[in-house]
Amino acid sequence: MTQSSRSDRFGGLELRHDREWNYELDRITEAIDSREADTVGLQFPEGLKRTAPRVAADIEGAANRDITTVISGDPCYGSCDIDMALARRADLFVHFGHLPMSENDGILYVPLFSNVDPLPILEEALEELAPPEELPDVGLVTTAQHINMFDEMKATVEAAGYTVHTRRGAERLSQEGHVLGCNYASADLPVEHVVYLGGGKFHPVGLAMEHPDKHVLIADPVNNLVTDADADPFIKQRYGDIHRAMDAESWGIIFSTKIGQERWELAQEIVTNNEAAHLISTDEVTPDRLRNFDFDAYVNTACPRVTTDDAARFDEPLLTPGEYRIAIGEKPLDELAFDTYHGTW
Ligand code: SF4
Repeated sequence: MTQSSRSDRFGGLELRHDREWNYELDRITEAIDSREADTVGLQFPEGLKRTAPRVAADIEGAANRDITTVISGDPCYGSCDIDMALARRADLFVHFGHLPMSENDGILYVPLFSNVDPLPILEEALEELAPPEELPDVGLVTTAQHINMFDEMKATVEAAGYTVHTRRGAERLSQEGHVLGCNYASADLPVEHVVYLGGGKFHPVGLAMEHPDKHVLIADPVNNLVTDADADPFIKQRYGDIHRAMDAESWGIIFSTKIGQERWELAQEIVTNNEAAHLISTDEVTPDRLRNFDFDAYVNTACPRVTTDDAARFDEPLLTPGEYRIAIGEKPLDELAFDTYHGTW
């Protein structure tokens, strides 16, 4: 499939300023018309914030009515991370870069599909696997940026002679084959090998942590690389932090106010059963937010990837809820598991 036919299929005018992403200007202007919106909130992931003023100008120029756009300045790392204060104030709220985690009136999701052709690197990755006569079953997952090509990816794996296994698996995931950094239920498949198609290591490393029994093969069309995911460095670091927290006499239990990261019951249950634990409410979980507290260790009930990927940035041990149970002796060390996040809101 050519680049232009793919972009036609998923709709939208090209922005005059940005040829790389399709911001689906026509869908946004239609929503402005149908909702008679005067105020339009716009939320971009961190990596695309620099494009925000240009996209806002294009939306204002294309709209059939006078509108005011407001760009969210809050951090945004996922579809769990909706700026609800702005969404409440705006007549229409447009969230760019992620698939919907939960459908809400007044929120329009514009996923921003990649314009890189994923099929050549997928074909290359399949050559790394044992031939289909020896190992016929292969799992396939991808991210929001490439999910628009999922049918073509499946066809490519099948054309190579394999039986492709896919599923959706969780309400938090938008569709079949989709993975999030906090949920890999789409890879709960009866296979030894899972091909992950997407850019970077963030998602496949989480996948390897969640499924230590599977071989995770990365087909990265952005960097044009085929590699294996290796979660060992992260797992070693998790053991290190658990050991450091075993002597803790005071615990800060972090509860996130982000709409898709709230795990109130879980956080509350921990403090109910531990007199040395106190709840801390915050939107972001960063070293700066914790610096002036004096707890010996913390439990992060918010995004699990802050715990697993950013642990070294924190002065005190920061554990997932499951790791906390190991540190206080409720669970054995060999029950260390990835902190999968369920549900939506
Ligand atoms: S909780 Fe973390 S990993 Fe999950 S969607 Fe949000 S930012 Fe991504």
